[in-house]
Amino acid sequence: MKKWKCEECDTVIDEDKILIADNPFDPENIITGCPFCKSVNSLQAACDEYGCDQLASCGFPTAEGYRVTCGKHMRKYKEKTEEINEIHRLEVKVEKLEADLIEAKKDSAEIAVETQVIK
Ligand SMILES: [Zn+2]
Ligand SMILES: [Zn+2]
Repeated sequence: MKKWKCEECDTVIDEDKILIADNPFDPENIITGCPFCKSVNSLQAACDEYGCDQLASCGFPTAEGYRVTCGKHMRKYKEKTEEINEIHRLEVKVEKLEADLIEAKKDSAEIAVETQVIK
């Protein structure tokens, strides 16, 4: 679940716990409130990594869906994504090497056959 952090009291709040009301000055909009210190519009998106209470500074897509995290956890997921990409790159390389090997074996088998014919 998305988490929010109150700038006034530093409490991290689950999205379903935040207070929401119509904005009395602008009926088209809503205002949010902190359920702990009752501050209005003091909530900032928090890092969605479990147990992390840092403010979110970036959002990015991952294998597990869209994530909103702090810089530290963004780097963690970025490294993971790069690792997955690297593994994929190596897999493609291995496949190519295997194909080359099969080709090479075929070639040498043909050479062996030709050699026998020559004899
Ligand atoms: Zn608060
Ligand atoms: Zn974090």
